[in-house]
Amino acid sequence: MATDSILPDRELDAPYREFAQRIRAFANDQLEPHARAIDEQRRFMPETVRALGAAGILGGPIATAHGGEGWDALQIVLANEEVGAVCGSARGLMAVQSGLVAQCLEQFGDDAQRGRWLGPLIRGEVVGCFALTEDDAGSDVASLACRASVGSDGSYRLAGTKTWITNGGVADIALVFATVDPARGRDGITCFLVELEAVGVQRAPVAGVELGHRGSNHARLSFHGSAVPAEAVVGGVGNGFAVAMGGLSCGRISVAAGAVGIQRAALSSSIEFVNARQQFGKPLAAFQMVQERIADMAADLLASRALVYRCARLRMAGSEGPGDLAAAKLFATEAASRAADTAVMLHGSRGYSSAYPPERLLRDALGLRIYEGTSMIQKSILARSVLRS
Ligand SMILES: Cc1cc2nc3c(=O)[nH]c(=O)nc-3n(C[C@H](O)[C@H](O)[C@H](O)COP(=O)(O)OP(=O)(O)OC[C@H]3O[C@@H](n4cnc5c(N)ncnc54)[C@H](O)[C@@H]3O)c2cc1C
Repeated sequence: MATDSILPDRELDAPYREFAQRIRAFANDQLEPHARAIDEQRRFMPETVRALGAAGILGGPIATAHGGEGWDALQIVLANEEVGAVCGSARGLMAVQSGLVAQCLEQFGDDAQRGRWLGPLIRGEVVGCFALTEDDAGSDVASLACRASVGSDGSYRLAGTKTWITNGGVADIALVFATVDPARGRDGITCFLVELEAVGVQRAPVAGVELGHRGSNHARLSFHGSAVPAEAVVGGVGNGFAVAMGGLSCGRISVAAGAVGIQRAALSSSIEFVNARQQFGKPLAAFQMVQERIADMAADLLASRALVYRCARLRMAGSEGPGDLAAAKLFATEAASRAADTAVMLHGSRGYSSAYPPERLLRDALGLRIYEGTSMIQKSILARSVLRS
């Protein structure tokens, strides 16, 4: 349980405070009891999808007109902080399903796509994934090679392999990004809504064992001439790069908020530990070098939260620029790694064991710096936006 002084509650108006408390109660009751076990057992829990759906969390960002809860951007980040403080794997699942897939469909899909899939996605009856990354197209997504060849009847055949796809091994549907013409560069990229089993996708786990997010499922998805109808195109032929960036914009703010949650959990565990543990006849908290570490973690947490809330408020006001989100994701995810690393150190040998929270927080925090645009990519975006202004 987080120490009250490091919760966001004091800086929130009553409706937002009550909202955060409601998600916190859900996360503590339904996610926290499984968080360590699913990580240790590398187990994706379908029950988590259904629980997030039943609590209205998967449909949180979706407009009420489309069956969702109509959360604003501040509510979205509050929910991600609360879930992220408890279980990085559940937060990853939630952000992919509700942000990268459902919000993308809501924004770019047509009436038929929204009508068919938004309800099942937000109720947790189907699992979605966002298939962008390839072996040779990571940060440079515009260089993707997955091919969508159009036939004489207007349908498409997909050929290529996607990798590191969160939920990929268990998903019912995927937003798959492929090019209709490699010569057109990013203007050839097109997004397809694919029913994975119907097109005979081949699934395989990613190579090796993931460092963190071990309660998530990460897979390689291969398409070998899979036929998809013209109606599967999302957002128009050649508009897939914009669809991908729209999805990532929803996802990145959730990642940044999840990083705030990790910092809060690392600090909370450290505060509890250094107050309880005695060495040299005093609690660790009495030593100035320990206090300095705690102060650094607290300052990073407050600064990260301020950047993430600032980005959410700018988004709500319609005045967010590309550098605002980049600054929030960059700072919050780097600070999450620092916080978790410090927490391991402050817990001594216990921090090096899965019996205590810091090691999982550290492994999960490292992933946040990589996916949905690495820290270097966020720096490039931020620098470009500052230099241009
Ligand atoms: C846990 C996890 C979940 C993921 N989930 C998904 C998912 O659901 N869907 C999906 O499509 N992908 C997913 N990914 C993939 C992720 O988005 C990519 O790993 C990420 O975009 C980076 O690509 P890459 O791994 O190929 O690294 P590269 O692009 O090969 O980068 C390697 C290194 O080079 C640096 N670099 C690259 N270009 C530049 C540059 N121009 N300037 C400076 N440095 C640079 C990078 O910052 C990095 O440090 C996931 C990855 C992880 C770890």
